Amino acid sequence: MRTQVAIIGAGPAGLLLGQLLHQAGIDSVILERRSHDYVLSRIRAGVLEQGTVGLLDKVGASSRLHAEGLSHDGFDLLFGQKRHRIALDRLTGGKHVTIYGQTEVTRDLMDQRAAQNGKTVFEAGDVALHDFGGTSPFVTYVEDGITRRLDCDVIAGCDGYHGVSRASVPASALDIFERIYPFGWLGVLADVPPVSHELIYARGERGFALCSMRSGTRSRYYIQCDQGERVDAWSDERFWDELRRRLDPASAEALVTGPSIEKSIAPLRSFVAEPMRFGRLFLAGDAAHIVPPTGAKGLNLAASDVHYLFEALTEFFVERSQAGIDAYSQRALARVWKAERFSWWLTSLMHVFPEQSPFEQRIQQAELDYLVSSQHAMAALAENYVGLPY
Ligand SMILES: Cc1cc2nc3c(=O)[nH]c(=O)nc-3n(C[C@H](O)[C@H](O)[C@H](O)COP(=O)(O)OP(=O)(O)OC[C@H]3O[C@@H](n4cnc5c(N)ncnc54)[C@H](O)[C@@H]3O)c2cc1C
Repeated sequence: MRTQVAIIGAGPAGLLLGQLLHQAGIDSVILERRSHDYVLSRIRAGVLEQGTVGLLDKVGASSRLHAEGLSHDGFDLLFGQKRHRIALDRLTGGKHVTIYGQTEVTRDLMDQRAAQNGKTVFEAGDVALHDFGGTSPFVTYVEDGITRRLDCDVIAGCDGYHGVSRASVPASALDIFERIYPFGWLGVLADVPPVSHELIYARGERGFALCSMRSGTRSRYYIQCDQGERVDAWSDERFWDELRRRLDPASAEALVTGPSIEKSIAPLRSFVAEPMRFGRLFLAGDAAHIVPPTGAKGLNLAASDVHYLFEALTEFFVERSQAGIDAYSQRALARVWKAERFSWWLTSLMHVFPEQSPFEQRIQQAELDYLVSSQHAMAALAENYVGLPY
């Protein structure tokens, strides 16, 4: 089989890239390790920047998003038992974010790809990348027990943090930058109405909590938990009790609880692998970088990488110019590092760190007080939260 772009991974990065390429008349094949249903069962991000929505508009995969997504003009920071609203629209000149689950984004892109007869191989085993240092790369994989070969002009590595693409690059060609945080997030999804119509980011003595949602009837809640904590140690009851203790009295009172439909623990990590291009192999999304979820940037960064990569590949295939692919890594990383900084900063500000000294606690408190008393500081937070321009 032959294609122009072999895309590894059917997460948001791979699927969005596939649709943008399709629109530009550039052929692609997606190789995905998991089954269709498994990919759609993963519960992950839920806050979309306007740039991400714009890309979904561009490929025509946003009608359900506009019908069902929730537009949010602000969110609350909760500390010292008081909620402080960050008015995103006022602070950014009218910008907002959209609440729409990653699962739904993935479903919309998959449905659209299937309707357009785009080729996706699910349950592709033993995916291996070959000869991407030259001009005739190819990918091998196992489908139904048979080893197959996919020849291509370029490979897009959109296969997430644990994928094969970055792992195929010699370690000596990669610069790795990493920070692992000494805590995780325990998340619960439940079919109960959200405690507030906007998100609440809470920092208290017992740790961080986030009240989020996927719709008017489905809530997503998180609490900071210890590293190494096990999900089965957390009954629903224990989770709701702990969440309540991290909220202000009015929110704790208003919290509607119910059986969880998903419960998981995510470790928190900042990670960047540089560069994002190796000959004819291009990394995009979590394959190249990870952010802690505090700033809601993971999915949005995958989308902005895809925007830069799509522009570069269009120049390559349509205009026969190398300039775009030569600049891809630098352009994408400039935005990645700003989101890394923001996600690290918000994580540092909102969590309780195990070894935190009394001095560091006072500094954290002072920064929170300053943040909500300064229009400039709140504007900087809001500007980053809604997403920096591409
Ligand atoms: C548990 C969890 C919770 C998260 N919560 C949030 C959140 O609340 N907010 C937020 O902004 N971000 C969150 N994120 C991050 C966000 O989901 C990611 O940034 C986003 O999914 C990145 O998209 P991607 O397409 O780059 O990678 P992925 O979504 O990881 O997609 C990669 C795809 O490649 C496939 N793949 C992997 N290896 C291979 C292989 N060898 N061959 C073929 N295919 C392969 C995978 O099966 C997967 O389908 C979370 C991530 C995780 C893991």
